[in-house]
Amino acid sequence: MKKTVLITGGAGFLGSHLCDRFLNEGFKVLCMDNLLTGSKENIEHLVGHEDFQFLYNNVSEYVHVSGELHYILHFASPASPIDYLKMPIQTLKVGSLGTLHLLGLAKEKKATILVASTSEIYGDPLEHPQTEDYWGNVNPVGPRGVYDEAKRFLEAITMAYHTFHNLDTKIIRIFNTYGPRMRLNDGRALPAFIGQALRGEDITVFGDGSQTRSFCYVEDLVEGIFRLLISDYNQPVNIGNPDEITILEFAEEVIKLTGSKSKIIFKDLPMDDPKQRKPDITRAKDILSWEPKFSRSAGLVPTLEYFKKKVDGGE
Ligand code: UDP
Repeated sequence: MKKTVLITGGAGFLGSHLCDRFLNEGFKVLCMDNLLTGSKENIEHLVGHEDFQFLYNNVSEYVHVSGELHYILHFASPASPIDYLKMPIQTLKVGSLGTLHLLGLAKEKKATILVASTSEIYGDPLEHPQTEDYWGNVNPVGPRGVYDEAKRFLEAITMAYHTFHNLDTKIIRIFNTYGPRMRLNDGRALPAFIGQALRGEDITVFGDGSQTRSFCYVEDLVEGIFRLLISDYNQPVNIGNPDEITILEFAEEVIKLTGSKSKIIFKDLPMDDPKQRKPDITRAKDILSWEPKFSRSAGLVPTLEYFKKKVDGGE
C-alpha cells in the first residue's frame, strides 16, 4: 500500500522538488497550491503521473482532503522579502490560519505533519552561528515581521498540537536555499545577481555588502526534510549549509562564474536586514546524520543552467 503525502505550496520552488522526491520514494503525492507565488510550470512534468494529483486551494481559507492521508508537508507561503512585503496579509494568514487548518487535518487523519519554519525566526541574530536554542531578535512591526512572526506562530501552534493532542509533528528551520525553479524575479540576492550578470546589468548590492548569508543547494535541503519526516524527533531542526559568505563576495563570485562584464553598484540596505546568518547544524548531524553534500560551486552549475534558459527566453 502506497502512503499518501499532502504537500502544500507543492507548485513552489521547494514544494515542487519535494513532489519529485516523494514520487521517487513511491508515495502518492497530493500537491496543493493556490499559485500565488508558485507556478504550474514547476510541476508540469508530473502532470499525468498516476500517483500525482494537483489540488488548487488556498489553505488559509479551508482545507479538505478525502481518503487516507499519512503525511503532510506545509510549505505554502510567500518566502522572499519582496513577496512578503507585497503580500503581508496573505503571508500572515498562511503561516497562522493555514497552519491551524493543516494541524486540524493532521489530527483528523492521524497523519504526521512537517511544517516549514525558517532562519527568519532568529531575526537579526545577536548570536552567531544560530543554534536551535537561540530565541532570536525579531522586530514584530518591521517589514519582515509579517513573515517572521507568522513562522514563530507556526512553531508555537505546532508544538501545542504536539504536546496537547499528541500529534506527530516536525519543525524544520530552513536557511537560505537555492536551485532550479527559484523565480528569477523573486527579489532575492541569488536569482537577482545571476539574472543581472547574465543580462549584463549592474549588480545591486544592498548596503556595503558586508552582511553574510549561507546558501544551501535544494537537493541537500530535500534530503534533510526527508530524514526529519521519518525520524521520531519533534523539536525544531536547522537545515542549511554553514558555508558563510558576504553578499559582496557573493556578487563577485557570480560575476566570475558567469564571465559577465556587469559592475557592482550599491543601494540602500532594507530595514531590519539581518547582518549575519549561518546555521549551526550540530543537531541535524547528530539526529539525522545529515550534512550538506553540495558545495556552492557544485550547486550553482545546474542553477545557472536553469536561469540561463529563463533569461534566453526573455525573462
Ligand atoms: N540583497 C542584495 N541585493 C539584491 C537582493 C538582496 O544585496 O538585489 C541582499 C539583502 O539585502 C540581504 C541578502 O542580499 O542582505 C540576502 O537577501 P535575500 O533577499 O536573498 O534573502 P534574506 O536572506 O534576506 O531573506
